[in-house]
Parts: sequence; C-alpha cells; structure tokens
Amino acid sequence: MTAQLIDGNALSRQLRAEVKARAARLRAAGTTPGLAVVLVGDNPASQVYVRNKVKACEDAGLHSVLEKYDAALTEAELLARIDTLNRDPAIHGILVQLPLPPHIDDHKVIEAISPAKDVDGFHVASAGALLVGQPGFKPCTPYGCMKMLESIGMVDLRGKHAVVIGRSNIVGKPMALMLLAANATVTVCHSGTADLAHFTRDADVVVAAVGKRNVLTAGMVKPGAVVIDVGMNRDDGGKLCGDVDFAGVREVASHITPVPGGVGPMTITMLLVNTLEAAERAAA
Ligand code: NAP
Repeated sequence: MTAQLIDGNALSRQLRAEVKARAARLRAAGTTPGLAVVLVGDNPASQVYVRNKVKACEDAGLHSVLEKYDAALTEAELLARIDTLNRDPAIHGILVQLPLPPHIDDHKVIEAISPAKDVDGFHVASAGALLVGQPGFKPCTPYGCMKMLESIGMVDLRGKHAVVIGRSNIVGKPMALMLLAANATVTVCHSGTADLAHFTRDADVVVAAVGKRNVLTAGMVKPGAVVIDVGMNRDDGGKLCGDVDFAGVREVASHITPVPGGVGPMTITMLLVNTLEAAERAAA
C-alpha cells in the first residue's frame, strides 16, 4: 500500500479562503480582525516566522501589526506594551514570538496576554479551557493536525487508538487532549517510554512531535494507520525533514503528512482561524 498524502498546502489554501470570506463579512459589519505580532531581538528564524505570519494575515484580509523591539527591551517594557495591546479594540489577537531573550520570563509574558486575545493558545487559561472542554483558543499546531484528520473523515475517533509521541506543552499534551475530546483512546509516549514500537504498532493514528529524524520507521506502524509528522529536522544534505522515515512509512500507512508541505503550513493557518474567531467573539 502506498499512503495517500494529506496535503497541508492544499488544506491550508481551502481554510484560508474560508477565513478570507468570514473576515470580509466581519469587515462589512464594521470589525476588521486584527493581529499584533511582537518580536523581541533579532533571532533569524523568528524573523522569518513573523514575516510569514504577517504576510498570511494580509493575504487573508486580516489587519496585522508587527512590533519589533531591540533585544535590550526590558521585561517591564514588554509587559507594558502587552497591557496596551490588551486594551486596544483594533487588536483581537496577540502573538509574542518565542523564544524571548534570556532576561525576559516567557511564562510571565504569555500570562500577561488577555485570554480573550491568546490566539497562540499558550496561556494557562487556554490550556485549562482545553482540559475541561470549555471554549478557548487551541494551540495552532495540534489544532492544525486535528483539521488534517478531519479532512480525511476522521472526526469521531471512537474505537480508534491514537499514539502521540512527544509531550511538550505546545504540541504533544494539547494534541493528546484534542484526540481525547474526539473520543480516541490515547497513549502519550516520550523519552521515558520503554518500548515505543509496542504502542505505535497498535495505533490507528500516530502523531510524531519529537524533533528527531526516523523516530517512526515502517516496522513500527500498523498497516493502514494514519501518520501525522509534526517534526522539523534537517537531513544529512541539509534538507527539511520530519520525525518519520517518510519513504518507508508511506508504504505501510493509509495516509501520511509530508515534510515540508504538511503540518507546517497548517500552523499559520490555524493562527488565522484563531484570530478571526477572536474578532468574531469580540464583535458578537
Ligand atoms: P520538545 O519540546 O523538544 O518536545 C519533544 C518531545 O519528544 C519531548 O516530550 C520528549 O520527551 C520527546 N522525545 C524525545 N526523544 C524521544 C524519543 N527518542 N522517543 C520518544 N519521545 C522522545 O519539542 P516540540 O516543541 O514539541 O516540537 C517537536 C517537533 O515539532 C520539533 O521538531 C519542532 O521543530 C516541531 N514543531 C513543528 C511545528 C510546525 O509548525 N510544523 C510547530 C511546533 C513544533 P521528554 O518529555 O521525556 O523529554
């Protein structure tokens, strides 16, 4: 069996077109959805990420403001800026690009963002809302993975075993909660898991979010399983690759996400969806 690709670029285009249409309706009713992206310092990767986010907003008809600060910005100055953005009615979503310089406490800054504007879904209130099934903002990467599953008809995962490899606060843990909310039986594996293959071989869905190449190989996958690859790594030739041995696993799985062109574009797409939702809630 050669797996079907779940094309993150194509699905993103479709979802972004929907965002654009909803944003136009909201604008016609007097509200322009607005996202503030805050960058502190000159981390080259972060600069690329924020540029892509701002560009995606513009393309979807969302207003965006990019605030760039010198690495010497103090924590108090950043907190004051967030306070101002929290009270700005033209801004519905606030994203602080991580990592922040070492003298600034990431956690303190994220917690300063109003949960109503926490479109990255990293605030403790957003994590709590996800845990107890209340409306809040879902972290963009696992939210995008759920949309990819939905795109192949996997909406209710009752009776399915989903294995998440990785337990970070921004991917693995929220991913597990979203799969649980979709009625899957969920196993979360991590670096302390003794026999990873024992779990993955039983899984109908595997989500790999580790950050190491070849964490999941063909022999670890049940024939017909759906494989979502969140990882972003470089191969020996310097090319972008995921956590999954793509060439091997695609011969066993029924569906697989490629890297690049899989989960990556979905992350920004879900940021747009969250920002639009924040604006719709504010306008309601
Ligand atoms: P992270 O915070 O470093 O977490 C990695 C997780 O993998 C940890 O829970 C770790 O276990 C686990 N792990 C490490 N080695 C393992 C092994 N051999 N077997 C099983 N589990 C293992 O990383 P992250 O922020 O979640 O990101 C994970 C990957 O996704 C990275 O490649 C990152 O670049 C990528 N990513 C992509 C996007 C996107 O938009 N495509 C977004 C976010 C992240 P412990 O908890 O025990 O240490």
